[in-house]
This record gives sequence, C-alpha cells and structure tokens, in this order.
Amino acid sequence: MKENRCAYPRGKGVGGTSLLNALIYARGASIDFDNWCAKGNSGWCYKDVLPYFKMSEDFHNNAPDAVADMQYHGKGGPLYVSYPEPRSEQCKVFFQASEELGYNKTDCNGAHLLGVSPYQLNVKNGKRQDSGTAFLKPVLDRQNLKVLTESFVTRIIINEAKEAQGLIFTHKGKAYKVAASKEVIVSAGSISSPQILMLSGIGPRKHLQEIGVPIIQNLEVGSQLYDHLQMYGITFSSNLSEPVPSLREQVENYLHGVGRLSTALTQQGVGYYQTPVEKTPNYPDLEIGFYHSNDTSYALHTVQKWKEDVARVIAAVDSSSSFTMYLTLLHTKSSGTVRLQSSSPFVYPLIDSNCLSDPEGKDIETAYQAILFAKKLIKTKAFRRIDAKLEIKPIKQCLGKYKYMSRKYWYCAIRYITGHDNHPVASCRMGPDPSLGDVVDAQLRVHGVKKLRVADASVIPVSTSAHINAICYMIGEKLADLLKIEYKVNA
Ligand SMILES: Cc1cc2nc3c(=O)[nH]c(=O)nc-3n(C[C@H](O)[C@H](O)[C@H](O)COP(=O)(O)OP(=O)(O)OC[C@H]3O[C@@H](n4cnc5c(N)ncnc54)[C@H](O)[C@@H]3O)c2cc1C
Repeated sequence: MKENRCAYPRGKGVGGTSLLNALIYARGASIDFDNWCAKGNSGWCYKDVLPYFKMSEDFHNNAPDAVADMQYHGKGGPLYVSYPEPRSEQCKVFFQASEELGYNKTDCNGAHLLGVSPYQLNVKNGKRQDSGTAFLKPVLDRQNLKVLTESFVTRIIINEAKEAQGLIFTHKGKAYKVAASKEVIVSAGSISSPQILMLSGIGPRKHLQEIGVPIIQNLEVGSQLYDHLQMYGITFSSNLSEPVPSLREQVENYLHGVGRLSTALTQQGVGYYQTPVEKTPNYPDLEIGFYHSNDTSYALHTVQKWKEDVARVIAAVDSSSSFTMYLTLLHTKSSGTVRLQSSSPFVYPLIDSNCLSDPEGKDIETAYQAILFAKKLIKTKAFRRIDAKLEIKPIKQCLGKYKYMSRKYWYCAIRYITGHDNHPVASCRMGPDPSLGDVVDAQLRVHGVKKLRVADASVIPVSTSAHINAICYMIGEKLADLLKIEYKVNA
C-alpha cells in the first residue's frame, strides 16, 4: 500500500459508516452467535438474536432467481432489504459453477449459509438505506430525542465511585458538558469507542500511563482487533461480453431503481464456502463476492491505496467481458490493536490490523486455499463454457524468488494483494471475564464502571461469517430491549 499503510475509512455523520459502506446486508452463520453464547455471553445465541435481525428488517423478495427463506426475514421494519437487479449473465455462470461443486442456491440470510445467492442489499428503489435514513430520520420529532450534529465527544465524565455521569464534547469550536440522567452509551464504532474509553481513563494500565492519561479502570480496551481479510483483484477474462451501459442508460436505470448505480459496486452474487482449514462442519470460512465486468482497479487505487506497481497486476482487462472475485476470509485468527498516540482526542489513534500475523499461519493458509478454490471454480464446465481465465499478472517482488503460481509464490503474492476488509470488531470485546481481555458484559456494561455501556461493532467478540453492519443493527435492537427491561419501559 502507499506509505506502507492501509486505508481505514469510517463514516462521519448521522448513519456512521453505513453512509459509505458497500450496502451488503449479511448476518452470518447461526454457529457465530452460538459461539458468542458459548463464550459466556448468555442471551446472544442465534435463537436469541434472530428475532432482533427480523425486527429491523423490511425484506423485499424482488429477485425471481433467489431462494428466499421467508421465516428468517422480517417485514415492515425500518430497514429496507432487497436484491440488486438485473442479474448479469456472468453471475448466472458463477451460480452454475458453484452448484457443480456442490454449493447450491440458498438464502444467505436464511437457515443455511453454505451456498450461493444474489447479494441482499440495503437499497430502497435504487437508493442507499443508511442507518440514519432508515432508523433515525423517521423519529426525529420524538420529544425524548435530541440529535446534535457537528459534535465531537472528547471524554466521558466518570466520578470517584467509578460511575459515568456524562460527557464532554465540542460543538462548533466550543466545549460543552452534558449530564446523563440514567447512563452513557458509547456507539462510536470499533476505532472511536476504544479511543473515547481510553481517553476517559478506561484501558490497559501500562498504555495509559505511557500516554499520560490518569487510569480509572484497567481493562484491555483496544487490545484486540479482528477484521476479515480480503484478497483483491482476482480478475478473470471470458468470452461472454456484457456491454458496459452508457452513462445516460445507467442514469435511466437508476431512476427505475436498477442497474449499476443502484449498487455500491458492481456486486451481484455471493458464495459461502468451506476450505479444508475450517474443521467445524457446515461452517463457511470463505466468502466469494462476484463482481461482474471488472472495473474495480480504479477503486483499488483510490480507496485501498495500492502502490502503482501492485495495482498494475490487476489492472482491468477488457471491462465488458472480465469479472472479479473478491475472496474474503471470514474467521481470521490474526488480531491487531487500537492504541492512543496522544492524550488529545483530536489526534487519530493508531490502528494496527496486524493482518496475516497469526503464529500458526492459519490465515495465510486459508488465503492460499481460497485461491485454489477460485481456480477450481474456474475449471468447472460452466466457466469453461465462457472460456474464463485468471488474468492476474505476476507480482514481480515474488516472481524472482519463487516459481510462478507455486504455493510459495502465492504465499508471497497474498501479502501484496490482501488487506483488511473494513470490518473491525472486538476492540471492546463482549465477555464475562475482564482478566481474559473482555471489556463489556453480556448486557454491554463496561466491566468495573457503572452506568456506562458500549453498543457497536467493537463489542462483537470474534470475526463472524458475514459483513458486520446488520449485526450492528441487531446489537442496537437488543440493547433497546435490555434498556426497556432495566428501566421498566413498555414500548
Ligand atoms: C468502505 C467500507 C465498506 C463496507 N461495506 C460493508 C457492507 O457492504 N456491509 C456491511 O455489513 N458492512 C460493511 N462495512 C462495515 C460496516 O459499515 C461498519 O462496520 C458498521 O457500519 C459499523 O457500525 P458502528 O455502529 O459500529 O460504527 P459507525 O457506523 O462507524 O458509527 C460510529 C459513529 O460514531 C461517530 N463518532 C465517532 N467518534 C466520535 C466522537 N468522538 N464524537 C462523536 N461522534 C463520534 C461517527 O461519526 C459515526 O457516526 C463497510 C465498511 C467500510 C469502511
């Protein structure tokens, strides 16, 4: 990457990172949540959280070729979920190829995750459904709600009895103090929530001492950071040409709620697969996102900050007939950190995603197995019919050292074409035991500090088998119920 560091974008505004994400609506496997429960988080098993996923959802089964498991979907909730339309011919081939290998069509948010499906997206009639638009804007006139934009929290006020009492924040250049009548809930995301906690004296003792923040509660805040790993630019050529529509056609399509401009990328279909590295039966560890007509190299240059010479290896082949597979590792073992650089809230924290660092090397082996699987997929009858070929060019840094396409070559190449997937979790990990690094309990209360909770992606204990936005909504729905029970509110 340029400057030898990855980009770590975050949304800033009402709607947070859902203002700029890729709109994929995915919940993960039931095993993910049963694992949360097994780690001592009672109330977070799949059977417990499924009603909260459904509660948010307004599912629209608008794709004739999709298998929709309706008992797993909600209707009438604030969050619109629909399929991108129309389906590209190349995507249909991707589905056929997966079926040849035993991965049948499924509902990727239904009973069985292993299999293939069109993506489900937070798109309403072609427009982005961010969380601000879906959840907050419709209730802005409530008497018990005040939304103050252009506000930046700098610290939580915590008294000597270790009780959160309110916040300090800045608004248009002035500092304000706000008192909490009941409690403080921090929902600033996996990077900013640990930053705010640490600035407020809740964090690893040694680290806070080094930075000069007075310690209130010694907790492993920011000491874990899992992210999915994504291999970019696995690009293929084919003889199936799908003309790229003109801008005028694209705008017309968009006004009808379909086509390229009605999705965040050219994402069409998704497959969930299991590599030999994952030993739990029926538990996918590999997601392949299918993006028809390769025009992703520009995005990689600008968003992912690839160095020119690395970006060149995946530079677009004929964009009307090529396609791309994004290979995502779902259960990464490598863990990074979020650390303060300064006691000033206006200095960005240090984010170290520490990709491909697990001592047993499981992540890089899974990445290699993912490449082998993609090659197997491309050898199916379905893909052979369209003469599909891997078009990635050699990475010169690896080619001189290792035989092209050998295992050693790929182990080297993977380190150039892999990045974190913008799905950071676990920096304020939910779990019962602070001595093992847990930060909040199963009620999302910060261990050892009263009247303070965290509710966002940072509490997700381990990487799940899915993109994480839908899980954040589920956490929000569940927290709302926890609060209603605690404060005896009927709604
Ligand atoms: C490029 C990209 C693509 C992605 N694509 C997908 C996808 O397709 N599907 C998916 O499921 N997930 C995707 N994700 C991930 C997903 O969108 C996020 O993980 C999710 O939105 C996180 O929600 P959150 O509530 O934890 O935090 P955020 O949504 O980040 O919300 C945090 C909020 O807190 C505010 N904030 C932070 N610090 C302060 C402060 N000091 N004071 C006041 N406010 C503060 C921020 O402005 C923001 O509004 C993507 C992420 C990125 C970056």
